[in-house]
Amino acid sequence: MDWNALRSRISGKVVTQSASDFAAVREAMVWNNIKPDRSPDVIVIVKNDKDVIEAVKFARENGLKVVVHGGGHTWCGLAVRNGGMIIDLSELNDVKIEKASRTAVIQPVISNRELARRLGEHGLAFPVGHCPTVKASGYLLNGGMSWNMSQWGPACLSVEAVEFVTAEGKLVKASAEEHPDLFWAAKGCGPGMFAVATAFHLKCFLLPKAILTSNYYYSLNDLEKVVEEVVALGWKMPDFVELSIFLISAPAELADQCKKSHGKLCMITAVAFANTQEEAMTALGILESGKLVQKCLFKAINEPTNFERLADASGATWPEHHRNLCENQCSNANPVDILMALREKVVEAPSSKSVIVFCQSTGQHNLLQPHADIALSMDGRSYGGIWSIWEKPDDDAANYKWHNECTDILKKFTSQPYIGETDIVQDNSRIQKSYTPEKWKRLEQIRAKYDPDGVFFGYLGGL
Ligand SMILES: Cc1cc2nc3c(=O)[nH]c(=O)nc-3n(C[C@H](O)[C@H](O)[C@H](O)COP(=O)(O)OP(=O)(O)OC[C@H]3O[C@@H](n4cnc5c(N)ncnc54)[C@H](O)[C@@H]3O)c2cc1C
Repeated sequence: MDWNALRSRISGKVVTQSASDFAAVREAMVWNNIKPDRSPDVIVIVKNDKDVIEAVKFARENGLKVVVHGGGHTWCGLAVRNGGMIIDLSELNDVKIEKASRTAVIQPVISNRELARRLGEHGLAFPVGHCPTVKASGYLLNGGMSWNMSQWGPACLSVEAVEFVTAEGKLVKASAEEHPDLFWAAKGCGPGMFAVATAFHLKCFLLPKAILTSNYYYSLNDLEKVVEEVVALGWKMPDFVELSIFLISAPAELADQCKKSHGKLCMITAVAFANTQEEAMTALGILESGKLVQKCLFKAINEPTNFERLADASGATWPEHHRNLCENQCSNANPVDILMALREKVVEAPSSKSVIVFCQSTGQHNLLQPHADIALSMDGRSYGGIWSIWEKPDDDAANYKWHNECTDILKKFTSQPYIGETDIVQDNSRIQKSYTPEKWKRLEQIRAKYDPDGVFFGYLGGL
């Protein structure tokens, strides 16, 4: 392959297998410390849209398949495939905010935390994802399970247009008016995307002026009744409350009280994205009306917070430089049944860092509802799943075993896996299961229209 010809066409960097830093650059493509046993022929670190166009054209002319690397946060390392070209977008991180029209145009690789911070400076907000370092790129294409999702909807509902470099090497804008089918696919296609998204046009919201959080900690002995009560109270809360149930290691000060459950407990977290303190406190106060609240081991209520602090708290639960497995889905099953089925597993988890969490419905409607105008097919009253998090490769066997056992338990409750956080490497049937049959058919028709020659890898596993 004439890599120098490629170099002469782009202003970014071309890293081939013979380069001394190839292995290091490839490793850095994957956030997870579990690195895939796959390797591309070339990594192209682009500087601008023109580089993307030239890289796609070169790949086409030379029969190289293309995969895009955004932030590298996909849990199973999907931005690294066998052979072909990785187009790495990590240097595309510009943000333009229009306060008056409450819109922003972002390049793909801006983190949740940074986007929230930049918008906050203008009194604006966007349904960013939960963890600080995850980038917009893949998150938005997956659909985006966001903060304040019950009120704002999944993030892709607030994307107004996406600029793409297509398989032909053409820059197009996809929106409700132009290339509407490509736009539809961009809202949920995730790691099967068949064009390079180089910019997202976002609709923003006014920044909620009073963001307050309440946390309650309960013994696992009370799990069944706690979940039953909290889920029922969730339906009485306004939809601007994000309500989550964690099965997690106890904070140090409660560890003694949780010895019988190997240091594990149930944590209820509610975050109100309100406009006044009073509104937020009234909304969170609904949790105080429960009977079980008397039994909580500890509570911290009505604490002021903001998007950056929320991101930092999530970052502490899902830390950098760890080995991770993840299975996330949405469900219409009774949350009591799901959490009780997993109760014993959390007690025996081989890693104290692993966490099980389910976000619940608040307000008058299910947390995830069907929308015809997006490819995302999630439809459920709760979403969440299992995150196995550990440090040492020596502990892989025990953690894989535990994770797979939990995943088996979860299966019978699953409406749809979440394409952005389901392990399609271990089981590629999860790709199609993430979509309704009608949406899957439409997605594949649009792929055939925009990438008839299969320039892009598509979903790993040949689907
Ligand atoms: C700690 C952590 C927390 C998370 N929290 C959330 C959360 O709260 N909500 C949520 O919804 N998800 C969450 N996720 C999942 C997240 O949405 C995915 O990992 C997503 O893929 C991250 O985007 P990325 O750009 O880093 O992906 P990458 O790993 O870079 O890319 C994955 C795949 O997406 C496709 N892709 C990415 N960017 C582009 C692009 N610009 N154009 C075309 N195709 C592209 C490619 O096929 C690529 O192979 C979390 C992940 C982690 C690791």
